[in-house]
Amino acid sequence: MEKNFPEEFTQIIKFEPPLYKQRHQFVKDLVEKYKPKKVADLGCADCSLLWMLKFCSCIEVLAGLDICANVMKEKMHTLSPLPVDYLQPSERSLTITLHHGSVAHKDPCMLGFDLVTCIELIEHLEESELKKFPEVVFGFMAPSIVVISTPNSEFNSLLPRVMLYRHPDHKFEWSQAQFQSWALETARCYDYSVEFTGVGHPPTGMEKVGFCTQIGVFVRKHPRTGESVQSEKPMEAVYKTVFKAVYPSLKDEKYLQNAVINEVIFTAQIIKNRLMSKREEYGDDPERKSQFQPSMDCFSDYLGKLVVEKNMEPFVSGNEVYIPLTTIFSFPKVNRLCGTFEKLCKLIAGKVPLSSDGSAVMFSIEHENEED
Ligand code: SAH
Repeated sequence: MEKNFPEEFTQIIKFEPPLYKQRHQFVKDLVEKYKPKKVADLGCADCSLLWMLKFCSCIEVLAGLDICANVMKEKMHTLSPLPVDYLQPSERSLTITLHHGSVAHKDPCMLGFDLVTCIELIEHLEESELKKFPEVVFGFMAPSIVVISTPNSEFNSLLPRVMLYRHPDHKFEWSQAQFQSWALETARCYDYSVEFTGVGHPPTGMEKVGFCTQIGVFVRKHPRTGESVQSEKPMEAVYKTVFKAVYPSLKDEKYLQNAVINEVIFTAQIIKNRLMSKREEYGDDPERKSQFQPSMDCFSDYLGKLVVEKNMEPFVSGNEVYIPLTTIFSFPKVNRLCGTFEKLCKLIAGKVPLSSDGSAVMFSIEHENEED
C-alpha cells in the first residue's frame, strides 16, 4: 500500500456530500436505472438507505436485514406510512419488512428479490461469515443485481485519524486488488458479471489510489429457472421479523373505493357548480340556454365538448340536479382510477346519492342553499 502521501493531502480530504450519502445516492441511481420491484438491503443498520429507497416509485417490496436488532429499531418508525399516505394512497403497493438475522444464514423470506444491496457490510463479517456470504447472497437469494461496497484500504493514508481500519468493528479492509479478486472469483462461481466503480474521488494527481469506497455491481448472467429456485428453497425460517409496514395503495379495493368516491363527488360538484352559475347567468331563457358555452376555462371547455359531442348533459329537475355517470366517467382521473364504467358503478353503489335508475349522481339544490 502506498503510505507516504504528501502531508498536504492528509488533512484536507472531506467529502461533500458526505461519503455515506454518496453511497446511498449511488444505490438510488442504480434503482432508477434498473427499476427493480423488490429490493433487500443487507446490513441495513439504522434503515437510512431503506428510508431513501421507499420514495422510488418502482419499488413494491423493501426488506432490511441486520444482525443487530437494536440499531434497526432506532429509526424503524421512519419507515411507517404517514397520514398523507392514507389521505392520498399511492397507485403502487409497498411493503417494508425488517428482519433480524445474519447474512451467513439462508431464510426463505429473502427469496425473489431483484436487487440486493450490501453497503459497507462485508468488512464487518467474521471470516466464517464471509465464507458463507457468497453462497447465501449469490447462490441462494440469486437476485438479478447485487451491489457490494467496502472501504478501499489504499485510500486510508489520505484520511486523517485512520490508524488501522476506518471503524473499530471492521474485521478487514481490502485494497482494490484484494476486493476485485474476491469479487471476480465470486462472480465466476455463481455466474454473474461484475463491474467495479466507487464513490469518493481521490485528489487530482492521485487517481491510482482509487475511490475511497470501492463498489462492485454484479449482474446475473442468466435468468433463474423456477425449478432451481424451488429445489434450493429451505422450508425453515431463521430470521425474526421485527417490523412490517403495508402502505395504503389503490391496488387495495378499500382505498380505491374511497379515492373513487371522493373523485366522483368532487367532479360532480364542479359540474353542478358550473351548471348553477350558468343558469343564474342566463336564467331559464331557452334561447340563451347554452350552459356550457366555450370559455377560457379548460374544465368548461371540456364539459362543453362532452355535452355537444356525446349528449351527456347534466340537468335540473325540481329541486335536484342530475349529473350523468357517463359524464363523470369520461373525466380522466375518474377514468384512470376505475378503468371500466362497470367498475365505477360497482365502487360507488350505495356510497354516492344516485338517481333512481342509477345513471346519474344526484344533488339536492335546496339542501345546498340551506347550508349556505
Ligand atoms: N449499510 C449501512 C451501514 C452498515 S454498517 C449503511 O449503508 O449505512 C454494517 C452493518 O452490518 C451493521 O449494522 C451490523 O450490525 C451489520 N452486520 C454485521 N454483521 C452482520 C451479519 N452477519 N448479518 C447481517 N448484518 C450484519
